[in-house]
Amino acid sequence: MLTNEYLKRVYDETANRNSTDKEFLQAVYEVFDSLQPYVEKHPELEANGIMERLVEPDRMVSFRVAWVDDAGKVRVNRGYRCQFNSSIGPYKGGLRFHPTVTRSVIKFLGFEQIFKNSLTSLPLGGGKGGSDFDPKGKSDAEIMRFCQAFMTELHRYIGADVDVPAGDIGVGGREIGYLFGQYKFLKNNFTGVLTGKGLAFGGSLARTEATGYGLLYFVEEMLKCMKGESLEGKTVVISGAGNVAIYAAQKAMQLGAKVVTMSDSKGYVYDPNGINLDVMKHIKEVERARISEYAKRVPGATYGDNRSDVWKIPCDIALPCATQNELHEDDAKALVANGVTVVAEGANMPSTPEAIEYLLAHGVLFGPAKAANAGGVATSGLEMSQNSQRFSWTFEEVDKKLKEIMVNIFHNSYNASKDCGMEGNLVVGANVAGFIKVSNAMLAEGIF
Ligand code: NDP
Repeated sequence: MLTNEYLKRVYDETANRNSTDKEFLQAVYEVFDSLQPYVEKHPELEANGIMERLVEPDRMVSFRVAWVDDAGKVRVNRGYRCQFNSSIGPYKGGLRFHPTVTRSVIKFLGFEQIFKNSLTSLPLGGGKGGSDFDPKGKSDAEIMRFCQAFMTELHRYIGADVDVPAGDIGVGGREIGYLFGQYKFLKNNFTGVLTGKGLAFGGSLARTEATGYGLLYFVEEMLKCMKGESLEGKTVVISGAGNVAIYAAQKAMQLGAKVVTMSDSKGYVYDPNGINLDVMKHIKEVERARISEYAKRVPGATYGDNRSDVWKIPCDIALPCATQNELHEDDAKALVANGVTVVAEGANMPSTPEAIEYLLAHGVLFGPAKAANAGGVATSGLEMSQNSQRFSWTFEEVDKKLKEIMVNIFHNSYNASKDCGMEGNLVVGANVAGFIKVSNAMLAEGIF
């Protein structure tokens, strides 16, 4: 609960000004709640209006995206780019194409991104964008026309030293390719303006795997330092079957764990023998089909059409990797009742505040998204470095740097939690560690 007068006042003002932005307010409240002990000790934050400035994006654009479908019909979607904070580097954050995208969703993601990017220790500011366009069921030609139309407006606001978008839900290698092509065409300029690019045109090895792999490097370090254990022999439950979920599953298996579930927006599969990732990747990455196909093809696997039942499957480790607010208090109760010891967030804000409180109160090691899923943006930062150098590093080089970054993020978050007198609470630790660098930069750069 917010007891600090300054934070309470700024939160109330923010809530009044953004009364319909539910997800954004949820993200702000969580950060403010964690920062209370730090803010108490630093009156210069209030004197310089740091929190008031932090919750108001530098700018946010919303624009019409008009495109023509395969039947010749004109379609209109809404596009967004939120440039939240550039105190420590150019704006950086993905683009999400999903029908649930609203101004609030983009703002919450952009706000979270400020602290996540700071935690990576790379010079990256926070931003996010996207559209309510639904890529599902669209032909390649429709995806291309939509991406071209989206970039025809977006190109005015971005640039390699200004704002560097990447992928997120519904935006993978195919979409980044079309977006990059259109930017290059409009600007006549070959530059690292997007990350997650194809390897033939400036992409980084290991970017595809980075968020999922990074999540597991974080969990590995957390288990080692906080419990003296490894992933060997652990049972893992994963939600989602997209980019983050697939590569989280792959690394978990490489580290000796057994992954028994994955899900999509329609349902989940349970495979007590351990998910066959080759089959899963073919269904999701090549065929772009529903996850229910998996149970039809793999003997012993079952399909359930309530995707939140995934949290009822007994496990040691749970990794929500689909979307925001997908793990509720009841799910946390089911996980604890079945003996879960670690929950780490691959998706952004997948656990509700009540779920987090319950997990922490019951001694579960909890890895919050800002820290645990920062491997994707960190590797995007490494892609930017390679583009600036006009040079490519090997998979092993990038993977090694990714692992070092994730191990550092864990320790910085853990140490910050200790400094705040809440040792092991990585929600507090990650928020404080990410905030300190950003607020110091804002203090040094003056008021604007
Ligand atoms: P993908 O589009 O590759 O996959 C998303 C997965 O989540 C799919 O299985 C999808 O199912 C499911 N999903 C999406 N929306 C919903 C919804 N409203 N309800 C239920 N399930 C849903 O996205 P990513 O794997 O890239 O992203 C997953 C999460 O990870 C997001 O929260 C994203 O912000 C976060 N993240 C991603 C990073 C990256 O590098 N890609 C970096 C850091 C965080 P279906 O196919 O049925 O829609």
